[in-house]
Amino acid sequence: YGEFSQKIDYVFKIVLIGDSAVGKSQLLTRFARNEFNLDSKATIGVEFQTKTLVIDHKTVKAQIWDTAGQERYRAVTSAYYRGSLGAMIVYDITKRQSFDHVARWLDELRSHADKNIVIMLVGNKSDLGSLRAVPTDDAKEFAQRENLFFMETSALEATNVETAFLTILTEIYRIIS
Ligand code: GDP
Ligand code: MG
Repeated sequence: YGEFSQKIDYVFKIVLIGDSAVGKSQLLTRFARNEFNLDSKATIGVEFQTKTLVIDHKTVKAQIWDTAGQERYRAVTSAYYRGSLGAMIVYDITKRQSFDHVARWLDELRSHADKNIVIMLVGNKSDLGSLRAVPTDDAKEFAQRENLFFMETSALEATNVETAFLTILTEIYRIIS
């Protein structure tokens, strides 16, 4: 019926966390469908999206989970984190508070997830450079100290989004293979 069956070698679960409105859903939509929704309410209620890609001749299905308005402190349940091999902690480079909350998200993640989880800190909305409130070096330092990957992205302009997800997926693959 126009479908083709594809052997999946691996399924990697990745969770998106971070304050509300930092752009988590748009990052996911950009990666999974190469779209940016001007009406971002369209993504509410979606649990996860998948994208299948090839890493090192293996078919990897990335299953990426998105919070649906559960970003209040401690409202994300342990079921959300269960089985995750990777995580993106997202903040908005124009909102200092969203960066100040990263430490909390990291604590919460580390208390729920496997200790080998691959974590990337993501400063989103890099297209809004004139409104920047978080210096790149502050985030870089934090990431280094906490042993996280770090990248600045723009879901709007599709800058570094694919690279960010691919970096996590490739690192997961490297660890488990
Ligand atoms: P979430 O609550 O973290 O899922 O955030 P959303 O993905 O719903 O995005 C929140 C708001 O930020 C929406 O108005 C988006 O259009 C906007 N947004 C998301 N990513 C970007 C980006 O990279 N650049 C800019 N300028 N706006 C963005
Ligand atoms: Mg969202």
